[in-house]
Amino acid sequence: MNLLLVEDSERLQRTLALGLRAVGFTVDVAGDGVEANGFLAAFGYDCVVLDLGLPRLDGFGVLRTLPAGGARPRVLVLSARDQVSDRVAALNAGADDYLVKPFAFDELLARLHALARRPVEARCDALEHAGVRLDPRSRSAWWNGTALRLAPREFALLEVLMRHRGRVFPRTEILERIAGSDSEASDRGVEVLVFGLRRKLAEAGCANLIENRRGAGYLIP
Ligand code: CA
Repeated sequence: MNLLLVEDSERLQRTLALGLRAVGFTVDVAGDGVEANGFLAAFGYDCVVLDLGLPRLDGFGVLRTLPAGGARPRVLVLSARDQVSDRVAALNAGADDYLVKPFAFDELLARLHALARRPVEARCDALEHAGVRLDPRSRSAWWNGTALRLAPREFALLEVLMRHRGRVFPRTEILERIAGSDSEASDRGVEVLVFGLRRKLAEAGCANLIENRRGAGYLIP
């Protein structure tokens, strides 16, 4: 797997590059965002491990430069910023995963392997399943041709569940991906969000689309 490591701490650069090469990754190292964009423009990577706090151009600047879909590399953000709002901002900016420093090297490896297994998302294509159609570009949703009036968070939740059908999303992950930087966000908030979305779907005639796996989370099978 070809990996670009973007990190300005020389110590972390050395340790990570050494560890990743030892388990078989091909690793290029960039020390700031401008250098990272140079590597990304010149070479193809499967994964980018991206620090957020970087000289010259920060991690968000690098995320903004990446193409939206297709052959875009998967991005795992490594950051000392540990607030839900930081994670949400990075995920919304196009990161695929987020790991808070300090972290265990084994966890980083496990997450990189999980990312490599994830199918490439064509983020702009319409999604269809069981009569439900979602258009991410216009943020519109329909059930059998009837427009569903979804709040932005309800749309985002439905989009995540439809994109990853069959995968159970724990509440904590839904919270990170969707609930946003709202300080009211909580497990209870996720329940309320799911309840509201299910009710709107049911009112339109689409019942039982979203399943609840007790103690595990929610999914569209
Ligand atoms: Ca840094």
